[in-house]
Amino acid sequence: MNGDITRIHTGTPENLTERFATRAAQMKPSEIRSLFAVASRPDIVSLAGGMPNLSALPMEMMSNVVARLISENGAEALQYGSGQGHPKLREQICDVMALEGIRAHPDDVIVTTGSQQALDLISRIFIDPGDVILAEAPSYVGALGTFAQYEAQVVHVAMDNDGLIPDALREAITTTRAAGRHIKFLYLIPNYQNPMGVLLPADRRTEILEICRDAGIFVIEDNPYGLLGFDRPSPNAMRAQDSENVIYLGSFSKTIAPGFRVGWALVPQSLKEKIVIASESSILCPSNFSQLAISSYLSDQPWRDQIASFTQLYKVRRDAMLESLDQHFPASATWTRPKGGFYVWVTLPPEIDTKVMMPKAIVAKVAYVPGTAFYADGFGSWSMRLSYCYPEPERIRAGIKSLAGVVKQEMEIRGLD
Ligand code: PMP
Repeated sequence: MNGDITRIHTGTPENLTERFATRAAQMKPSEIRSLFAVASRPDIVSLAGGMPNLSALPMEMMSNVVARLISENGAEALQYGSGQGHPKLREQICDVMALEGIRAHPDDVIVTTGSQQALDLISRIFIDPGDVILAEAPSYVGALGTFAQYEAQVVHVAMDNDGLIPDALREAITTTRAAGRHIKFLYLIPNYQNPMGVLLPADRRTEILEICRDAGIFVIEDNPYGLLGFDRPSPNAMRAQDSENVIYLGSFSKTIAPGFRVGWALVPQSLKEKIVIASESSILCPSNFSQLAISSYLSDQPWRDQIASFTQLYKVRRDAMLESLDQHFPASATWTRPKGGFYVWVTLPPEIDTKVMMPKAIVAKVAYVPGTAFYADGFGSWSMRLSYCYPEPERIRAGIKSLAGVVKQEMEIRGLD
């Protein structure tokens, strides 16, 4: 043993591929994942990953919460628990959701291993191969990967700087149905969307809910960033208006810490049993340890103030990114101006392929995610997602300056100004 645990990945041998189930063909590494190895080099300013910044989380306090949990309630914390999730935490989750206007019963909450698991469970229950999922254009790469694994076809619906466009949704429903396809649900991220950073206004929320209700299409409201608004609270959650047709996904990954892997789904009563059964078959129960750690933290610590500290930290980084984009990027580029969350979405002239540009950015010591990662259909080649959540503000400024240099060079090569 030399202690070296890295292995060279040589791909899946042909004869093994033949033995996989058909759906395994859809199990591909996301563009983001293959980027991480390069982007995590210390000399690179990574504007690629969307990792929450835990520097504002007092680790000593967390350590006390966990130590007390083990000494006072270790036998429960280290035991199996309920498949639906711990009852006390489910009550507390209802208090968290009340901040966004949701009145929920703890019995309708299912705790999951991050909201990513909720996406998997919902996909497993709803998607037959060839079904259509409507999603924003662009959309969250992790959700697109899950839908692909269940062999869904994603139909993207156009967005503008106010999020999903209701008329585009109407049109997508009509065209898809005219082609004889089954639409299973609309998936959207109304608050500080990943990857665009945009916020869906209250009137559009109402209109989109009406469209989906009339069309008999469930809405999956994915909301990990809703409490991370910089200047004012986000509009009420869509679920606050509709408890029958909305499946709401929440997560503590961005408001506490992703390492606990605790998220949840708030579901219409009619769906609860199926989702719990599906979850039990994949994980038996969510981690009691993580759930009780979060529960103690919510009971004993000033969690609202902690969210305010996180938000302040992200706001400073958002400002650093927008100021440097304004200062250095060419006039022909456009970008969103997020009012919360982690991301800025940059659109370059269509002649520029951000995937092709990536190696040059790495040489210039900056990384981003090329836009095509956020589309199921190969679109987005002249866009990119920039995350400001993680690096220090000075590093963000330096990274944007270098990236602007790379973009300008690409434009010069193509005779653009
Ligand atoms: N949805 C969105 C929009 C996300 O950005 C993320 C994480 N980046 C998730 C879901 C999954 O989060 P988690 O599983 O950590 O709750």
